[in-house]
Amino acid sequence: MDGKALGERVRAGVAREVAALGRSIGLATVLVGEDPASTIYVRRKEEACVEAGIETFHHELAVDAAEEELLDLVLELNQDERVTGILTQLPLPPQMDEDKVIAAIDPLKDVDGFHPTNAGFLLLGRPTLAPATPSGVMELLRAYEVELEGANAVVIGRSNIVGKPMALLLLAEHASVTICHSRTRDLPAFVRAADVVVAAVGRARMVTREMVKPGATVVDVGINRIDGKVVGDVAEDAREVAGLLSPVPGGVGPMTIAMLLKNTVKAARYQSRTLAFPGR
Ligand code: NDP
Repeated sequence: MDGKALGERVRAGVAREVAALGRSIGLATVLVGEDPASTIYVRRKEEACVEAGIETFHHELAVDAAEEELLDLVLELNQDERVTGILTQLPLPPQMDEDKVIAAIDPLKDVDGFHPTNAGFLLLGRPTLAPATPSGVMELLRAYEVELEGANAVVIGRSNIVGKPMALLLLAEHASVTICHSRTRDLPAFVRAADVVVAAVGRARMVTREMVKPGATVVDVGINRIDGKVVGDVAEDAREVAGLLSPVPGGVGPMTIAMLLKNTVKAARYQSRTLAFPGR
């Protein structure tokens, strides 16, 4: 599954949608500290926004900034009409409570989809702003016409940003979903029975070729650096048995940024009420 090509198509679609909006929309990015990976991620997101015609407002706080300073900034951005999306790059330094910061973001500007209101609507089966990475996986599955209704889907990983929302999005498409994690007793047995596998762990090549059911769809979310090379959670030779497989790099990664842009447009439409946010 070619996430690079599909991601480009999605981004081009977003650019057309932004142009058709007839008004400017803007994403505020907040970076706390100078973590090299976070700095790169934020820069890539900003570049993608600019390319799609979305304005960006970059904010940086020192690594030792007080939590209050970040909360004040978030509240200011909530009020700023030019800012239609707010992204606080995680992880935050230890003196800051991530839950508190996420909860302070206006749910209608929460382009990451981490706010409890958006997480709640996802749980209720009415996705609003859903997290970008699992949304990107769904977009890939849709583009490759993977049958989800009644399929056995196994999600490996249960984080709030990937595994859990992934499972809920698959459930909303009527898959029978199993979530596996570090305490799962017999992971290979679950994977062997799966028509669709999503690996989101962060352990290089942990899903082996032997575990994959012939013809299954395997989506690899993992990003692991081994000897300077980026590899996924799925062994490369699993492609020989899988029906469809997303490569690392070039699979889910490019979809994540594309879906963030999609969320930014969706958030703007919620705010302008051209799209109804449930309960508002
Ligand atoms: P977390 O570390 O938050 O979660 C990892 C999950 O894997 C946990 O639920 C953990 O279980 C589970 N796990 C750990 N060891 C095992 C094991 N041996 N068997 C089964 N499950 C196990 O990671 P994230 O969810 O944030 O990210 C997962 C991966 O996806 C990472 O490699 C990350 O880099 C990548 N990623 C990629 C993105 C992209 O754009 N392509 C975006 C976001 C993440 P437990 O809960 O029991 O500890």
